[in-house]
Amino acid sequence: MISSQGSIKQRVCEIISKKSPLRIHRCVRKLCDIGPRYVGTEQEVIARDYLLDMLKEAGANAHLEQYEYLHYVPGSANIQLISPIKEKIRGNPILYTSGSTQGLLVYAGRCSEQELAFLGQQGIELSRKIVITNVMRPFTVYPLLEKSGASGFIAITDTQEDLVRDGTATFERRKGSIPGIIISQADGIRLLTLLCLKKKVIARLSSYGTYSTKISSNVVGRVEGSKFRSEKVVLGGHYDTLVNVPGAVDNAAGVCVVLEVARVMAALEPERTIEFIFFSGEEVGCWGSSKYGEVHKSEMSNCLAFINSDSAGSAVVVDRNIAYVTPNAKKLAVNIAEEMNWPLYRVIEGSPPHPFSDHTVFASANIPIVWYTELAFPEYHTKEDSISRVNFDKLVKQTNLVGQLAWRLSCEGRKALVGG
Ligand SMILES: [Zn+2]
Repeated sequence: MISSQGSIKQRVCEIISKKSPLRIHRCVRKLCDIGPRYVGTEQEVIARDYLLDMLKEAGANAHLEQYEYLHYVPGSANIQLISPIKEKIRGNPILYTSGSTQGLLVYAGRCSEQELAFLGQQGIELSRKIVITNVMRPFTVYPLLEKSGASGFIAITDTQEDLVRDGTATFERRKGSIPGIIISQADGIRLLTLLCLKKKVIARLSSYGTYSTKISSNVVGRVEGSKFRSEKVVLGGHYDTLVNVPGAVDNAAGVCVVLEVARVMAALEPERTIEFIFFSGEEVGCWGSSKYGEVHKSEMSNCLAFINSDSAGSAVVVDRNIAYVTPNAKKLAVNIAEEMNWPLYRVIEGSPPHPFSDHTVFASANIPIVWYTELAFPEYHTKEDSISRVNFDKLVKQTNLVGQLAWRLSCEGRKALVGG
């Protein structure tokens, strides 16, 4: 005789293993074929409509939830070296920055506390300087540099020489106050070499972009619970990308996991309601999820858990599955991963477990969070994040894992969390 847990697991696995791989592949291909899905573009709307149709077809009650946001269109960005040599370096504007400044360059490494303290000990101030950094995610240091009085921000891409990562200035949904540029590693190394040799380097930094008010939409689907309708488990993943990024691993893959789980759950008829959300505007400050949090504030107390599905199935990162969890979801997340044969390389705990991506608004409402992911895959936020870099076997396994987690929560409710 199989235990109730065993039979639940089997049911989910059986459903996922039949046509799921083909459907997941088709969904990722479709989203990648649309191209970059930057918020406010036609491609974003095409992806939105596709996902709305697919959610309905999967058996969920689906609709769009519109919201107004501050839109940013990137223009050009460059560094004009003035002294001791004259040269122009081109790059991408850091999103949500616009303007120009002239001043001395200073290098601040990754802007860690230790590095900034070291600069302070050497009597080097960042105020009124153009600060050069090596950071993967500009938004992790940009607000800090604004506060330090820096007049400009240069981020050197931390990956291959010919790639430039894209990125936004802040996750605070506002205009940045100083110009910012992202340059290639090759240009960055030349700039740092010049700084080592000549000490005083003066440059003019310009980054241009335009702002407007626009409307975007989250796609929301529900499979109503048969017994405890008002209690809900929420699964979400963002469907937008950065400007020049195909966004296969981040996050066509994550979206297709959610969509396939929706199909499985609709067929299983869960006792508690399961909600499936495709957020927009995540890459430039979690616009969609923060607006969702505002509109659905009163329902947050009925939300049992939020499962984030952002960045999945990287073909390069093979054994480095990470779980970001809040303490109240850790046991369940780890146990299910073990049961499903999903070796966790690292479990990162905290509340909110990670200061960006769409779970943040749920974590701030004290809702248990589970996020199985593979952040820091090599193509992250570059034009190389394409379908050829997706490992579909792994993505199917992750769908099993997330499906099992959603199903367990929908069957057992809060008990699943307490008991682990
Ligand atoms: Zn993402």
